[in-house]
Amino acid sequence: MQLAVRVVAAFLGLAALSVAQAATTVLTNFTLIDGTGRAPTPGSALIVENGRISWVGTQQSLKLPSGATVVDLAGKFVTPGLIDNHVHVGLVHDLTQDINFYSRELVEQQLRIYAAYGVTAVQVLGTDTDVIFGIRADQRKAPTDMARVYTSGQGLVFKGSYGGVAGLNKPVANVAEARQAVDEQVAKGVDFIKLWVDDEFGDLPSRMPADISKAIIDQAHKHGLRAIAHIFYLQNAKTLASQGVDGFAHSVRDLPVDQALLDDMKRHDIVQMAATLSREASFTYTKLPFLDDPFFNRSITPAALATLKSPERQQKLAAGKHFAQYPGVLDTALKNTRREIEAGVRYGVGSDSGPSGRFSGHFLHWEMELMVQAGLSPLQVLTAATSTNAKLIGAKDLGTIEPGKSATLLVLDADPVADIRNTRTIHAVYVAGKPVSTIWSVCTGRAANECKGGSTGGAHGER
Ligand SMILES: [Zn+2]
Repeated sequence: MQLAVRVVAAFLGLAALSVAQAATTVLTNFTLIDGTGRAPTPGSALIVENGRISWVGTQQSLKLPSGATVVDLAGKFVTPGLIDNHVHVGLVHDLTQDINFYSRELVEQQLRIYAAYGVTAVQVLGTDTDVIFGIRADQRKAPTDMARVYTSGQGLVFKGSYGGVAGLNKPVANVAEARQAVDEQVAKGVDFIKLWVDDEFGDLPSRMPADISKAIIDQAHKHGLRAIAHIFYLQNAKTLASQGVDGFAHSVRDLPVDQALLDDMKRHDIVQMAATLSREASFTYTKLPFLDDPFFNRSITPAALATLKSPERQQKLAAGKHFAQYPGVLDTALKNTRREIEAGVRYGVGSDSGPSGRFSGHFLHWEMELMVQAGLSPLQVLTAATSTNAKLIGAKDLGTIEPGKSATLLVLDADPVADIRNTRTIHAVYVAGKPVSTIWSVCTGRAANECKGGSTGGAHGER
């Protein structure tokens, strides 16, 4: 919109149009869902100056700044940009996962896909190469058109246990190595520390021992950083809770959470960061149920889509060692999410998208739908995915629509409070006051024949 103003100004020879005027945008006539959990407010307006919200209120009380670009959003719903607090980036091309793919180009492409889906900030859980630090630094310096990224660098894995990515996460074998590995991540400037405590259904010989998880948590806290743990088992969750872990990156998925864990989580404000219900749900399918939905497949190459639909893939997934267990795992995750929320445990929203078969952006919308299935109201889910997630990842200027906050916004055609699936009716996405492309094709930038039949890329795809 600012570009349009400049173009018109140049056309009319209005060279004197000031930068301040050009940088002021007013959004009018929308229903405000401000991210705080407050009920939606119809007839709202807001003013964006230099990428930040300078005023928000009712349409009647709006004092239109002179020279501002006015965008009439009658009938629309405006929420803060969504946040996914559990993702992985840079690991996958189509459906092939390989740490050697990790590059600035691939990561930034995926961060633009997130933004196109209205997911304007993401927290990466322990599988970044050091390339991420340059991307993060550049995003903080200058206006960006992608999702803002927060990182834990390389998360901590115990030797012989589950977690991390081969060739990236160097496993630790003892307490001294664990403390040193935390120090190395801190020296790189990570936003938090990630650790994995799992053995993949007992397929692997060990899980991280308690003395090592305790050392990692203590060392993170020494540096003033949070420690977020991947968990699967109730027993490990209880041990980690007693050790002062700050949050869980997944649900407990083997057993119902018990009162002792719920009490501990509440007493020490241990957050259920992410339930990752979409992760577990994705494993219950041999063929994902939304392959023909344009909201999903616009960001998938035709080649990847063909693979997702192929009988070979379906047979392979059906023959998977743990395929039959996943409906039970999902059911346990759904019920534990409900128990925790009813008990008053603090929670965020995260999808664990990014590994092969779990798709950036789309999966957060699915995650929010599953959170509603778990028993939350759509407004509770939206609040968790915006203001709560912003607090959890340390994004002080995101997550609510209030003066002073970044004008990072999602504009919807239909009411997400009436039906959470309406978060998919994306009309526009603003990152720091600027509209970004909401039509994304991963085909852009690839050989044209790879993308026959695919949707075309938006403005950002043409870079
Ligand atoms: Zn993960």
